[in-house]
Amino acid sequence: MSKDKQKKQKAKHRQPGAGSSAPPQPEPLPPIQGPARAMVIMAHPDDADFLCAGTVAKWCAEGWEVIYVVVTSGDKGTHDPTMHPEKLAAIREEEQREACRVLGVKECIFLGYPDGFTSESAELRGQIVRLLRLYRPDVVITWDAFRGTFNHRDHRNVGQATMDAIYPIVRDRLFYQHHEHEGLESHQVNEVLLAGADKPDYSVDITDYWEKKVEAILCHTSQLGGRTKEDFLRERAEREKREPGKPIEERFRRWSIRRPMRQPQAAAPAEPRPKPQRTAAG
Ligand SMILES: [Zn+2]
Repeated sequence: MSKDKQKKQKAKHRQPGAGSSAPPQPEPLPPIQGPARAMVIMAHPDDADFLCAGTVAKWCAEGWEVIYVVVTSGDKGTHDPTMHPEKLAAIREEEQREACRVLGVKECIFLGYPDGFTSESAELRGQIVRLLRLYRPDVVITWDAFRGTFNHRDHRNVGQATMDAIYPIVRDRLFYQHHEHEGLESHQVNEVLLAGADKPDYSVDITDYWEKKVEAILCHTSQLGGRTKEDFLRERAEREKREPGKPIEERFRRWSIRRPMRQPQAAAPAEPRPKPQRTAAG
């Protein structure tokens, strides 16, 4: 749409009597400062690479440490009549590991839940809390569990379990207290980026990392239905024709916690105890 046409449309939508003051556009949120440590917690192999591989590639290039946690191994994602779940899980785990190598992700952890059968359970929440206490990320990317549109149950459950794990469970030591026996302390995540959000409010410009993202996506051969690098390049060229110079972005709903950790309270100085008074009877 041309700028003139956009202006005209804006004018058309302006309510009579509302004066010239259009609703103020919120300022774009400032970028999250790094290098930091990030954990990407997703439901299936390939979720992360479609949703945020550009952001991950950018962070890795800037010296961030990024860990992937993949809750299922995507063992239902096929139309191949000869495929069976164990074989598909092994293929998809290897595709995900390869994508991690491409991006520079430090570690990729699979929780091994069956595809399509996650539930928002205390067990899953506890496993996520344990990994957060072990790796201590500053930033977490996960699925937006609350988007108001169609979504896969694993995306919803993993997003919900992760958000609940982050606030307040991971921070408060009496939740899953047995972690202390492993030497794991409570932890606070400061920033959460919800991917797949229907109301995103935070963007990362990944124009310079788009090729890396495509390279990571192309590792998921079993999921691409024959799409090749040329297909992605053609789509990008068409977009460039339509919207010349427009940056490529990954968009998230951002949730900043940034509250100071609760400090352990110093024990109050003990009051001198009154000496027991002997009574005539004692
Ligand atoms: Zn998925």
